[in-house]
Amino acid sequence: MQLNLFSTLTHKKEPFYPLRGKSVGLYTCGPTVYNYAHIGNLRTYVFEDILKRVLEYNKYKVKQVMNITDVGHLTSDADQGEDKLEKGAAREHKTVWEIAEFYTKKFQENLKDLNIESPNIWCKATDHIPEQIKLVQTLIDKGYTYKTSDGIYFDTTKISDYGKLANLKNQELKAGARIDMGEKKNPHDFALWKFSPTGSKRQMEWNAFGKKGFPGWHLECSAMSMKYLGEQFDIHCGGIDHVSIHHTNEIAQSEAATGKKPWVKYWLHGEFLVMNQSKMAKSTGNFVTLETLKEKKIDPLAYRYLLLQTHYRKQLTFSWEALEAAQTGLEHLYGEVFKVKSQKSIMFKSHEVENKFQEAINDDLDMPKALAVVWEAIKNNQIDYKTLLKFDEVLGLNLKKIKRLKDQKIEMPDEVKKLLDLRQQAREQKNWTEADRLREEIKKLGFTVEDAKDGQKISKL
Ligand code: AMP
Ligand code: ZN
Repeated sequence: MQLNLFSTLTHKKEPFYPLRGKSVGLYTCGPTVYNYAHIGNLRTYVFEDILKRVLEYNKYKVKQVMNITDVGHLTSDADQGEDKLEKGAAREHKTVWEIAEFYTKKFQENLKDLNIESPNIWCKATDHIPEQIKLVQTLIDKGYTYKTSDGIYFDTTKISDYGKLANLKNQELKAGARIDMGEKKNPHDFALWKFSPTGSKRQMEWNAFGKKGFPGWHLECSAMSMKYLGEQFDIHCGGIDHVSIHHTNEIAQSEAATGKKPWVKYWLHGEFLVMNQSKMAKSTGNFVTLETLKEKKIDPLAYRYLLLQTHYRKQLTFSWEALEAAQTGLEHLYGEVFKVKSQKSIMFKSHEVENKFQEAINDDLDMPKALAVVWEAIKNNQIDYKTLLKFDEVLGLNLKKIKRLKDQKIEMPDEVKKLLDLRQQAREQKNWTEADRLREEIKKLGFTVEDAKDGQKISKL
């Protein structure tokens, strides 16, 4: 079945054909490790994980590379401001190396909690300084750069198709002139390499181009992706905010250096998670972390389940109510999986269901539709346990574990117990209207009650 993916470059769904047979090279821009990732960042990584799993479901062999930005990402995307890592170190009175190590570990724990498959290759920007210097040298040799007092810059007017990913028109390119250009020749020119500011000592700096300095943020992704995936590869992804600057600049410097176009065949971008009407972001303090969710006893997989209910190219507004509903929904799904596992007969329609499921995921990762297929099949008793587990290779909801129902004794809140007692009395008085009313009350608290021969049978919803 044909897999179609929406390409940011062409702005339409494209049939997916990798460059080299059944092998797929996938580069996913990783985190800047100066603080905890927030659940908006993690939305992007869940989308990329689904992409990888869908590719694997379609029998592609995926090589995924993810970088760790541990140097060079400045507080402003216009090559100004402080290095986020140095800022984090000052905040916590630690070295930059300690900060990077700590938050890399935390990030990797987040991925594990969300059941995100580990990339095949992790690569740190600071472990690839020679590769980055070499890339800058190539661009210098080919005449794409100029030097200012604070760094080596890429001259974006030297290439004819700068801005093609974001569809930046000439006007927008000129409009950029409102920003403070410093010594830059053109508004969109960007730093390939920055010189350490005079008078202050950076913790991370290297000798190159006659001075001490450090790489520009975009450089690492070009250098490392090409090192591990070749000069041209299949898919590159990130969040939507990467389109107009980070990825645009990655394309410019990579295609200029190799002379090969297109550098990357498919560009995919995930939409934002928003909260309080604006993008979830660390810089504004408008964010929630996975650690907070866990403190509130919310299963990280409930967050994953919430994400699956919205297409990755649509904005998603975060609310605690929606998250709690997702937790209940997931519990319900686990309950149904448990029932499917123990059922003796089904209306066998596995292939039809499998086709529908694959049709949904192959239509640019339509996970809301795929989930609807799963629920419909469960409701109509058309799916067996083995097929559910197969679908879970894409969903990643850990359906195999069905941990809660199997291992957990039902813990009834006092309120439910009280209602059950009242209902028992109503039953004894044959007051069925009251018994029904109380059943509804109990349901609202997340439990169902059935009248069995020897009493009221209660189960968690
Ligand atoms: P950063 O650590 O800032 O480099 O961001 C890591 C990833 O998270 C990037 O792919 C960003 O595009 C993405 N991202 C940042 N904010 C959000 C958000 N509110 N919703 C979804 N993705 C985001
Ligand atoms: Zn990147």
